[in-house]
Amino acid sequence: MIGVIYDYAYLEHRPPGNHVERPDRVVSIIKAVNGLAPVERPIKDVDEWLLKVHDADYVSKIDQVCSEGYVFIDADTYVSPGTCRAARLAVGAVLRGIDKVLSGEWNAAYAIVRPPGHHVGRNGKALMAPTQGFCIFNNTAVGAVYALEHGAGKVAILDVDAHHGNGTQEIFYSDPRVLYLSLHQDPLTIYPGTGFIDEVGEGYGEGFNVNVPLPPFTADDAYQVALNGIVWPIIEEFKPRLILVSLGFDAHELDGITNLRLSLNTYAEVFRRLRDFIGRVGGVVFVLEGGYNNDVLSRGSVLLMNIMSNKEMEIDEGITRTEPRVLARVNSVIRDVISTQRVYWHLG
Ligand SMILES: [Zn+2]
Repeated sequence: MIGVIYDYAYLEHRPPGNHVERPDRVVSIIKAVNGLAPVERPIKDVDEWLLKVHDADYVSKIDQVCSEGYVFIDADTYVSPGTCRAARLAVGAVLRGIDKVLSGEWNAAYAIVRPPGHHVGRNGKALMAPTQGFCIFNNTAVGAVYALEHGAGKVAILDVDAHHGNGTQEIFYSDPRVLYLSLHQDPLTIYPGTGFIDEVGEGYGEGFNVNVPLPPFTADDAYQVALNGIVWPIIEEFKPRLILVSLGFDAHELDGITNLRLSLNTYAEVFRRLRDFIGRVGGVVFVLEGGYNNDVLSRGSVLLMNIMSNKEMEIDEGITRTEPRVLARVNSVIRDVISTQRVYWHLG
């Protein structure tokens, strides 16, 4: 059974003008999933956990700018008077979802939150990225730390947003308790410019960071080869107690800000595989990251609810095929990832 965590405070994180990361994203999701699952509110008091991931200086800087009104803190990322409350409750939704799943009350949770989080590191911008990419606090990363301290011995974070989760990678780069796997558009062609194959973690964390940088125009067929050849076998071998999913819908071909070409068929496949892990793993918490086409966000979220409730559902989209020229490049990326990661994992 899957439950939803949501709060109307997310609508109070408001851009000063036009912006792709805007309140109606979550409104369209909430309208679409209404009645499909129980809804809970986030945990309110999260600062103890926030400060285990983010520097105190960074958190107080954000609190300061929230008091200043509508402000851009970099070229992409804005803060408004309601941002600090929304951003804390975005973290709190993930923590609530983890409580529900670790207690066994739900076996999956969907934190329908904004602002998103995976681009923000300990101290704001991560790994030399030019901006924080619309993110304020790293909701998923705080969740992973919370889960570890609540008895989940090992946590996997699967990031299917079209952008590399540079913040999450930075935070756990030397931590072997958190496996970070990300499939994303080639960093040479898109923000944040990181997420290359050879970024495998360091120190005790070496081998616990897996990047699959996919060329622009990668479609369903090739993406699923990467899932089957790399992602599922590594998660299977790692045996996490909990899987957190950085769920971005911006890898869909109708999304305006990236060049990946997934249909909802691939999202459905990801949801089914994760559902099948639940028996062995313990639970899955989905955390909304990017996705800027409201129709995709709402239909994708309904699909998630149905699949996690064991209901099959007609997907009104064909499977997308990768052009031969792009496919050859995807296959070479997959081979390179496998030869790099084979040092750490049993891969075919
Ligand atoms: Zn994204």
